[in-house]
Amino acid sequence: MNVDCLIIGSGPAGYTAAIYTSRAGISNCLIEGSQPGGQLTTTTTIENFPGFPDGIDGFELMQRMRQQAINVGATVISAVVESIDLSQRPFVARLDNGNVIEAETVIIATGASARYLGLPDEQKYAGAGVSACATCDGFFYRRRTVAVVGGGDTACEEATYLSNLCKKVYMIVRKDHLRAQAAMQQRVAQRDNIEIIYNANTAGLFGEDGVEGAHLIIYKGTPDETTRDIAIDGFFLAIGHQPNTLFLNGQLELDAQGYIVTSNPSTATSVEGVFAAGDVADPHYRQAVAAAGSGCRAALDVEHFLNNK
Ligand code: NDP
Repeated sequence: MNVDCLIIGSGPAGYTAAIYTSRAGISNCLIEGSQPGGQLTTTTTIENFPGFPDGIDGFELMQRMRQQAINVGATVISAVVESIDLSQRPFVARLDNGNVIEAETVIIATGASARYLGLPDEQKYAGAGVSACATCDGFFYRRRTVAVVGGGDTACEEATYLSNLCKKVYMIVRKDHLRAQAAMQQRVAQRDNIEIIYNANTAGLFGEDGVEGAHLIIYKGTPDETTRDIAIDGFFLAIGHQPNTLFLNGQLELDAQGYIVTSNPSTATSVEGVFAAGDVADPHYRQAVAAAGSGCRAALDVEHFLNNK
């Protein structure tokens, strides 16, 4: 298959880019990746995407974007890009279903994935009490006790969600305050069954067949350092995300945190004809509506690039 624009990723950035390129008459295909719809499909109600005064379910929002892209002519392919060669033109992408796509331009919109603490126990108990998605796995912990690590919006959102299902929810926060927006903090404060443990780091997990508890270090590295064990059945990570750039194999310039460097305000990357949009290139805003906006910019940059070629 040969297209003018290959779009990699199916979050708000990817679908917006697909809508814009399709409407501009640019032949394109969008590769959905391993998590069709991206991160929004794992959240609950989205209340800050304009146009939905009563909020909208994240999964439904992504289904609508997908349908809108298809309605205007985008080709959506359910596959994962295993590798891409950006050293030759047209660019060549190899998919996990064996297909090969040649493209004049590429928009990378692969988003970011949940970060883990890096503890060996996270691997040991993977699928047995450790999760990075409360909306995906919370159901398994009904009427039980869980912990959420992190103090940002995601952690507050996940803790609030879990508090509806679980007997008790601990939040393990490494600083003496939350980073989350005031509104998110307020929701947490209103729940009697959420207990925030501040100044706490997780040293490890314990349990026979699955997670039964966590070892915490309080005031780590200070004269007041102490330890505390909490009994939990589930351990949820909500400590931010890592941009999904591994498949690029070092062919694009990345910043120190691994985000794709673009020549702002353009979405152009270090390789001519390759553009990046959404969370994979945004260490700062990381909002669905910002991702959608950058998907629009990337599509317009592609149009401009193809017209000047
Ligand atoms: P953030 O980067 O905002 O927060 C990460 C949290 O995890 C911080 O509290 C941070 O602590 C903590 N943390 C990071 N690394 C570690 C570690 N190694 N050990 C312990 N704690 C750690 O990520 P979020 O995923 O919460 O949010 C990302 C973006 O998405 C933000 O811009 C947020 O506003 C947005 N968002 C918006 C929502 C909404 O509006 N509905 C919902 C969810 C997210 P520290 O503070 O000490 O750095």
